[in-house]
Amino acid sequence: MSQYVAGVDVGGTKIAAILMDAAGRTGAWITWPTEAAGGPGGVIERIIALIKFIMEQNGITEQQLLGIGLGVPGLVNSREGKSVFSPNLPGWRDIPVAAMVGRGIGVPVIIDNDVRMAAWGEKLLGAGRGWDDVICLTLGTGIGSGIFIQGKMFKGRDESAGEIGHVTVEKDGPRCSCGNLGCLEMYASGRGIARLAREALEQAGSSLLLELAGGDAGSITAATVCQAASQGDHLAQQVVAKAAMYLGIALAGLANILNPQRIVLGGGVMGAGELLLEPVRRAVRERAMPLNREVEIVTAELGERAGAIGAAALARQEFILGEGRSKWIW
Ligand SMILES: [Zn+2]
Repeated sequence: MSQYVAGVDVGGTKIAAILMDAAGRTGAWITWPTEAAGGPGGVIERIIALIKFIMEQNGITEQQLLGIGLGVPGLVNSREGKSVFSPNLPGWRDIPVAAMVGRGIGVPVIIDNDVRMAAWGEKLLGAGRGWDDVICLTLGTGIGSGIFIQGKMFKGRDESAGEIGHVTVEKDGPRCSCGNLGCLEMYASGRGIARLAREALEQAGSSLLLELAGGDAGSITAATVCQAASQGDHLAQQVVAKAAMYLGIALAGLANILNPQRIVLGGGVMGAGELLLEPVRRAVRERAMPLNREVEIVTAELGERAGAIGAAALARQEFILGEGRSKWIW
């Protein structure tokens, strides 16, 4: 009898699910709208229904499904199987989501934060596979990360480790949502890049960038900045270079502290490609210590599926290969 696990990535707007077999092969990726306004109860019902749907689609029985990996946004207590708080999901406070989903399907559930699950995806099956000391960053609206030390994820005392987005890179920089000044997130996240672009436009006035945004500086996103930069717009290129410099400063610091083999960069901001990657690599080469500057900085491979694939890959380790820590099972 073939064995399977399911990986689920819960986001503010959509829930994604994928099945994985014992050999680590994945099936089709299915997404449903989250309907987050329905509150925790409604969203959890949808998670359960989506897992049942994907099993039915693939002709998999309850006996064949050995476990579920679940990634949820925000602060998670993985030991207790709880979503502590999620800014993207209204009403989610101290929700025992692992137990609720586990009861709904009748299999054990392993849970973590969505960015950490995406990091697991890259570590096990993407750009970080085969390496023990890897840092995976997601550069999206904000910046999140998963840090692997000797093959294990480092989460810290309260599972709040890896907040690279809130490292100070400019002591008198703008105030971040976390309360600090000059966080990396203010420069190199999607929101940060859009902010830098608006600021630069105030000085310069006109640019292809403004044209691409339909003449409205307020509607500029990181994607418009990347598009304008790749079409040769000087101002947009300067914005990308600035974001890359700050990211490079933070990554050089990380490389000096952890001496990783690889740093994997994913998320929407990486749509900028080499335009961003090249100056980041240069900054790390210039700033990190001799051995630490040898770190390879690469682009993530799994794209938007990383979260669901990582959740499934972690569940496979835990429930099929039996390599995980059973105290985190519900
Ligand atoms: Zn911050």
